[in-house]
Amino acid sequence: MLIAGAGPVGMSAALALHARGIDTAILEAESADRDRDGSRAIYVHGSTLRTLDRIHPGIAADLVDEGLVWPTRRTLYRGKEAFNRTYDSPGSKWDIPPFTSVPQVVTEAYMHDALEEVGVDIHWDSAVETVESSADGVRVETADGSEWRTEYLIGADGGGSTVRNEIGANFEGDQSENAFLIADIEEEGGHAEADLERLFHYDAPETDGRNVLLVPFTGGWRLDIQCLEGDDPEELKSDERMQEFIRDVMGEEYVDNLKWVSTYYFLQVMADTFVDDHRRVLLAGEAAHLLAPFGARGMNSGIADADEAASAIAVALGARTDAVARDEIELYAARRETAAEYNLNAAGQALEYLQGEDPVTVLRKEAAASLADHFEAAGEWLDDAPYGPHGSPPIVSTGNY
Ligand SMILES: Cc1cc2nc3c(=O)[nH]c(=O)nc-3n(C[C@H](O)[C@H](O)[C@H](O)COP(=O)(O)OP(=O)(O)OC[C@H]3O[C@@H](n4cnc5c(N)ncnc54)[C@H](O)[C@@H]3O)c2cc1C
Repeated sequence: MLIAGAGPVGMSAALALHARGIDTAILEAESADRDRDGSRAIYVHGSTLRTLDRIHPGIAADLVDEGLVWPTRRTLYRGKEAFNRTYDSPGSKWDIPPFTSVPQVVTEAYMHDALEEVGVDIHWDSAVETVESSADGVRVETADGSEWRTEYLIGADGGGSTVRNEIGANFEGDQSENAFLIADIEEEGGHAEADLERLFHYDAPETDGRNVLLVPFTGGWRLDIQCLEGDDPEELKSDERMQEFIRDVMGEEYVDNLKWVSTYYFLQVMADTFVDDHRRVLLAGEAAHLLAPFGARGMNSGIADADEAASAIAVALGARTDAVARDEIELYAARRETAAEYNLNAAGQALEYLQGEDPVTVLRKEAAASLADHFEAAGEWLDDAPYGPHGSPPIVSTGNY
């Protein structure tokens, strides 16, 4: 079986196919010695860890050992604390904690090792250029002129997916109104347990009224600053401005620890179909949907796609009739399109909450902040809301995001 793309979703798909006894290989556009920028997906949900552990036993323990679980959730509103809760021994009660916070490059490195261990090849420098599907299978051509044939192809080639274009699927949706500034700040010598907290600051005075999110991960901090209308994100990401932000939000000792910074307008889009007309090509991960990162649904839902795609392919390969095989692939599309709609809606709610001008939302935030001293629930609502609703999509056999 073939997979396009050796990102976290393509590698998970390969592990999930291998676990179901299916030989597989990955075609990857980039070179083996590539650098992957920035921490990106740091928040790995417990359900994702369980999925990964099912398809490659032991990998969850490795990611949990590498990652961290912060004990404290704290929220400030215009400089004043609105919520602060610390949990005793977070994560240690469970074999698999509710989440782990680990840079995406580390997650990818473990997936890569797992693939080597089970003998799945990644063909580097092999960008998929053309995809032709028929009732019998798929023919793929890569940039070096090689031709590949496969019964099913999983397109996990990211947001700019060639596979998506080749099957004639299109992204539909919109984009965040304001930009976000996202940076990784190194924590030299590792985190002190007592400092581990996830902090959200509404209208932070230190950033002239911009919202700020600060999240620890192994070896560093994710600093996320939400630009205001009229901001020039490129100017804000200059060394000088970033040093000011870091000094004011985190303290002088972090000023020289900026490792990476980028600006984003988040797309909120999904493909109008996750499968081709012949039910031989399945889109997964960012090839199928792009979500704003609030609620950490991007990589997490992509890994759920990967596992479900492998499951559908395994059943389709064993089917005695073509109709049953087609049906399985269609079921994949139905489940994962429904999940993507749910996730888009959830991430959209978070985005709207964070940057929308809806007077009701603005009033609710102000009312909650003024009640937070007296009613913990009001502060907890403020603490929770930036990540969208809890819960997972309705039609998902594994109960995953
Ligand atoms: C700032 C930021 C923070 C984020 N935080 C989180 C988080 O906390 N939790 C979370 O779940 N998600 C998060 N995400 C999202 C997460 O990073 C992505 O959802 C994830 O990387 C998607 O994985 P993927 O494998 O689908 O795509 P990618 O990671 O983009 O991988 C696609 C792969 O396909 C390859 N490729 C491209 N074109 C071709 C081709 N033609 N042929 C062959 N190969 C090709 C690429 O080189 C790449 O290796 C965040 C993203 C950003 C930007």
